[in-house]
Amino acid sequence: MAGGHQLRLFNSLGRRMEDFTVSGEVTGMYSCGPTVYAFPHLGNMRPYVFADTLRRAFRWRQLPVRHVVNITDVGHVVADTDTGQDKLEVAAARERRSVQDIADFYTDVFFVDIAALNILPADEYPRASAYVPQMIEFAAELEARGCTYRLPSGLYFDTAKDPGYGALAQMDAEGQLEAARVEQVEGRRRKTDFALWRAEEPGQRRVMRWDSPWGWGAPGWHLECSVMSMALLGQHFDIHTGGVDHRELHHVNEIAQSEAYLGDGQPWVRYWLHNEFLQLGAEKMAKSAGGAPRLAGLTEAGYHPMAYRLFLLGGHYRSQLDFTPAAVDAAQATLRRLVTRVQPLRPLPPIQTLAAAQAGLAGDPVAARLLDTIDAAIAADLSTPRVLAALQDALRDPEITPDGQRTVVAAADALLGLGLATLSPDDLEHRRAVSDLSAEERHAIEQLVADRTQARKERDWPRADQIRAVLDELGVRVTDTPNGPTWQLR
Ligand code: AMP
Ligand code: ZN
Repeated sequence: MAGGHQLRLFNSLGRRMEDFTVSGEVTGMYSCGPTVYAFPHLGNMRPYVFADTLRRAFRWRQLPVRHVVNITDVGHVVADTDTGQDKLEVAAARERRSVQDIADFYTDVFFVDIAALNILPADEYPRASAYVPQMIEFAAELEARGCTYRLPSGLYFDTAKDPGYGALAQMDAEGQLEAARVEQVEGRRRKTDFALWRAEEPGQRRVMRWDSPWGWGAPGWHLECSVMSMALLGQHFDIHTGGVDHRELHHVNEIAQSEAYLGDGQPWVRYWLHNEFLQLGAEKMAKSAGGAPRLAGLTEAGYHPMAYRLFLLGGHYRSQLDFTPAAVDAAQATLRRLVTRVQPLRPLPPIQTLAAAQAGLAGDPVAARLLDTIDAAIAADLSTPRVLAALQDALRDPEITPDGQRTVVAAADALLGLGLATLSPDDLEHRRAVSDLSAEERHAIEQLVADRTQARKERDWPRADQIRAVLDELGVRVTDTPNGPTWQLR
């Protein structure tokens, strides 16, 4: 098995398992990132844990990846209409803060969460607000090619001109629109037509507004992903990921406008991968529902972020998962047992790749079989439940050697990212100490502390208080001293 098993991924485009083949030296991967107008809930973190698993599977095979995750700080619209108000503007009005403040604040919160979940940082986190001129150019090019029409409410993409429209959704247009709850727009020729530019209505003045050939306004919410992914990964790239809700509309529209823009008859992106939902009760966990559980809430309740990561990895990314406190409880207990068994084996070898794991087998046939099982599992569309099962087997098998065990545990964790080399059972009993935080977590917390200091300097007390509340939830206590603030974990 020296070369390992062929990596196979479930491509939403065509809905089938396909061999993954590289297209060049570096695999380009784009993951639709967070909208930063509210706290991310636990379900929002699932796409990034899933994308992280994919990143780890590539690292395992020594295939370099360039990963881009966008920050949607403009253009995401209330109720998914094309003409509605920006969610960010609504949040800014509600919280009586500037849209910039709102976006910066929730972007920081997102970075805190991904660091706590041990997610490998992306190469780029472009902000939509920084790419509006490129979005205008992109839309102007589509207009020059005759793919659009103008209405008083903006510039629309004419889906009638695209015979392949909607292939990704595999639904008829009615079903697609039903699924995405798209509303009527005055004068729209087809219900599937979508805004590339949202012009201000007479008398309306957006907070975030740009001048364009179609008047003052803001870009449509699909445009940013096409523009930023092409800008940072090249016109065609390999993998595009997101939550399964994007498969029906957002990604359909990204494909339509991108392929019209490129006009080369080639598929824009080769593999489309979507994670299933995290459910709460019988429903999709949703931001708009309010009160959805957050990672900080779990840690406040005494759970380690890695317990949530293990809970997610215990299911396949394409299966719905039901969030319950009992399930996270069980995950934390499982993790504690795992760590207790791993502790006597430390230090673990620093394995990140299949090749390094194979080199560490030292002729142990049981370890070799388990390593093959792990490799086959991750190659089979990222079956993390089977990687976990092999990890458990390695810790229980009476025939395996201690060195074989070390190799298999380190190999499994290279893919799972649970931090088995360093977690201590105490971390899973009690609140954590600063020394238990990763460099990324520390950095993200320091960023929040600095933002609070800035807010206080600007006498923006509501913002300072809100940041303090978030730090509180994270278990961080800030003390203001004459030399500036210091912080520690409670
Ligand atoms: P948002 O910040 O709302 O745009 O969401 C960020 C990501 O979370 C997107 O890829 C969504 O598809 C995904 N997402 C939203 N809700 C859930 C959920 N309940 N379970 C899994 N993924 C979700
Ligand atoms: Zn997107």
